[in-house]
Amino acid sequence: MPGATLNKQMTQHYMSLPQADDQIQAMYVWIDGTGEYLRCKTRTVNFVPQKAEELPIWNYDGSSTYQAEGSNSDMFLKPVALFNDPFRRGNNKLVLCDTYKYNNLPADSNYRVECKEVMTKATDQHPWFGIEQEYTLLDVDGHPLGWPKLGYPGPQGPYYCAVGSDKQYGRDILECHYRACLFAGIKIAGTNAEVMPSQWEFQIGPCEGIEAGDHLWMARFILHRVAEDFGVVVTFNPKPMPGNWNGAGAHCNYSTIEMREEGGLKAINKAIEKLSRRHEEHIKAYDPKNGEDNKRRLTGLHETASIDDFSAGVANRGASIRIPRQVASDGFGYLEDRRPASNCDPYRVTSMIVKTTVLE
Ligand code: ADP
Ligand code: MN
Ligand code: MN
Ligand code: MN
Repeated sequence: MPGATLNKQMTQHYMSLPQADDQIQAMYVWIDGTGEYLRCKTRTVNFVPQKAEELPIWNYDGSSTYQAEGSNSDMFLKPVALFNDPFRRGNNKLVLCDTYKYNNLPADSNYRVECKEVMTKATDQHPWFGIEQEYTLLDVDGHPLGWPKLGYPGPQGPYYCAVGSDKQYGRDILECHYRACLFAGIKIAGTNAEVMPSQWEFQIGPCEGIEAGDHLWMARFILHRVAEDFGVVVTFNPKPMPGNWNGAGAHCNYSTIEMREEGGLKAINKAIEKLSRRHEEHIKAYDPKNGEDNKRRLTGLHETASIDDFSAGVANRGASIRIPRQVASDGFGYLEDRRPASNCDPYRVTSMIVKTTVLE
């Protein structure tokens, strides 16, 4: 992996050169035509941006991102959320953008536009989301990081939230990503080691409305970029290792103002009842291949419910929806939708949940 083996000390020499406030680097980040992968490019601006809207609309070659024909390839980038750049530091910025076609209609993979409309309609319900992003670290050959090349690590059991060189695989990535997110201004709630070795998790939230998707997408970008420095690959494949190994999800914890108040359990149960009637539609929105990807993960084993059944329960990690024990005993709080795959588009997930539970 050339990027990781280049001399980082030499890089430091240049990256620490002084930089003026009228020479700010703005790295534009966007979702490509897969609906799953991110792209980025940078321009210099002659001021320190305070808000995304101050930055110019830009264009890119959509025929190189699975989004347009070569003969009509110009697509547009509209800045929507601004973060501090933990890589270039100083006043440099990371800019999340959504994407538009030549005719100014949203690109096919731009689910943010609809999500924004849905969240605006639901504003007075104050929908909050906390998304648990699970991911797996891979070596550049595609094999899980630190796994024996000709075999397997010991069976699952000791790895979840573990400490010790024989039980954790690549903690540096998690630690660097966590600090980088805090510097960027991402609402990152926490991190932990997961059940499968080389599998990790970070949580975003609670975020209100559109912010959940914005912060999760940029946190994913930062994770890929941090791993690049170490010559490690991040995958959001929901079932990277077939067999007796846990898959990776993006549990979506959700509440409205009603659910968070005294007696909120009633509203939580009502939402679950509504969710139960639209299971298939939700499954279609919960991974980039309309359920095909998640099928490998939602088997009914490894702390999942079967993709074909809807279920809910207190403290039940084998259910589609879990009501946390604390929430059941307090009588208010939030619910956890355990179905979204790790490679889901959070704009699709959060807007689907709000459409079903608030707008129907
Ligand atoms: P788990 O026990 O399932 O592993 P985590 O601690 O990983 O749960 O994640 C719980 C998530 O729920 C956190 O991201 C947190 O911010 C979020 N959360 C907490 N309270 C609420 C709430 N009222 N509404 C929505 N999300 C919430
Ligand atoms: Mn968790
Ligand atoms: Mn988890
Ligand atoms: Mn969870």
